Amino acid sequence: MNKMNQLYEGKAKKVFATEDAEKVIVSYKDDATALDGLKKGTIAGKGSINNRMSNYLMQLLEKQGVKTHFVEELNDNETVVKKVSIVPLEVIIRNISAGSFAKRYGVEEGIVFEKPTIEFSYKNDDLHDPLINSYHALALGLATEEEINTIKTMAFKVNEVLKEYFLNLNVKLVDFKLEFGRLTDGTIVLADEISPDTCRFWDADTNEKLDKDRFRRDMGGVEDAYQEMMRRVFGE
Ligand code: UDP
Repeated sequence: MNKMNQLYEGKAKKVFATEDAEKVIVSYKDDATALDGLKKGTIAGKGSINNRMSNYLMQLLEKQGVKTHFVEELNDNETVVKKVSIVPLEVIIRNISAGSFAKRYGVEEGIVFEKPTIEFSYKNDDLHDPLINSYHALALGLATEEEINTIKTMAFKVNEVLKEYFLNLNVKLVDFKLEFGRLTDGTIVLADEISPDTCRFWDADTNEKLDKDRFRRDMGGVEDAYQEMMRRVFGE
């Protein structure tokens, strides 16, 4: 499969057309942004780590019955995925309080929830991705009621699979963001990526942060954290 014209360039990825109208090639970059685009930088090696880790996790999820956009890894930084129209919602699942949840509700980070939570943000850069509830998403025509129900069920299933998987690697899956897309026949599939850019990972013994928070919060050791997660997943 060959890269043709570039369709899109985002903050962390480029997307290219292919000879197959139903498939695109995603190319992961080392570029990183945070704090609504205010903070910019690069994380050496991030592109290939996120590409390979995300592909591995998508295949793990497929085996557990979660439909994803994954087709084939081409090389360290590039992957063929099914072309989707992205549902403009960021779907966030939380197992432990952190980040914007802790800030919004004035609680400390690290509270373990009895049940995971779900929330949505409206993917809209001009509006800075505001929090939105499912009724508002419906009212705005961002997704149908059936699609929202499917997305909720799939997101909690992803959490169950990944929480257990990462705990076996001595990693707490604190929270993460998912995106979903529609195939041409309307099927909802998991899209985008699952990586240290989109998940909070804490070492299960020390609570050391092994994710993008090290970049967001200028903690140093960013590359090491991404590499450590790579070692835990692939043993390298
Ligand atoms: N997240 C993401 N992209 C975003 C916002 C959040 O991937 O644009 C992920 C983030 O890495 C974390 C989870 O979603 O794992 C919850 O993030 P939160 O709402 O706490 O926002 P933050 O504190 O990162 O601004």
